[in-house]
Amino acid sequence: MTQKRRLGIMGGTFDPIHHGHLVAASEVAHAFDLDEVVFVPTGLSSHKEGQDITPAEDRYLMAVIATASNPRFSVSRIDIERPGPTYTVDTLRDMRKLHGPDCELFFITGADALEKMLDWHDTAELFEQAHFVGVTRPGHRLTDPGLPGGRVSLMEVPALAISSTECRDRVRDGEPIWYLVPDGIVQYINKRALYRG
Ligand code: ATP
Ligand code: MG
Repeated sequence: MTQKRRLGIMGGTFDPIHHGHLVAASEVAHAFDLDEVVFVPTGLSSHKEGQDITPAEDRYLMAVIATASNPRFSVSRIDIERPGPTYTVDTLRDMRKLHGPDCELFFITGADALEKMLDWHDTAELFEQAHFVGVTRPGHRLTDPGLPGGRVSLMEVPALAISSTECRDRVRDGEPIWYLVPDGIVQYINKRALYRG
């Protein structure tokens, strides 16, 4: 009998993608024996509406550049091609349709996002569709989030105090982002003059 395919899904705005995202995905892939992690940049983010977000095409290309060297990482356009704001329940439905019933889905998310999860749409369906892995990041202590047992795991990843907000602020202020993001992302941001304000 063949083992079910184990597929990680890392959703995010990725504005820009940084080493915090990549380390989290790599750590979860190792700990949960995942065959692949798919990075899924959001369309219009339901959580970030009204904010000034970089065009989806730039965020998508940066995700491709950052993941290109890892054979187990890939990037999906499903959220940016679905009209309207991105809801995780739609992401999981589409991934399920694409990959079939014989696939285990693991949704990887930061502890901050996990805490907000009970406010999300269709929570019951979310937990039916996927196992959720909440990773700690600096400044977010994992308290008991009151989430259903068995479908949610919490995992500590090496503390990386990197956020996209910090990267954008640094570029705007003329500070370096070398080594916070992959080299190709530094170059892409320069080439496209992103985050200059
Ligand atoms: P912003 O500062 O704009 O909110 P962000 O750095 O949080 O950006 P997102 O694209 O919002 O990046 O994050 C996508 C997912 O990655 C979320 O689940 C988030 O919690 C998680 N994440 C972000 N930064 C880290 C990090 N340094 N370590 C682990 N997980 C992270
Ligand atoms: Mg965030």
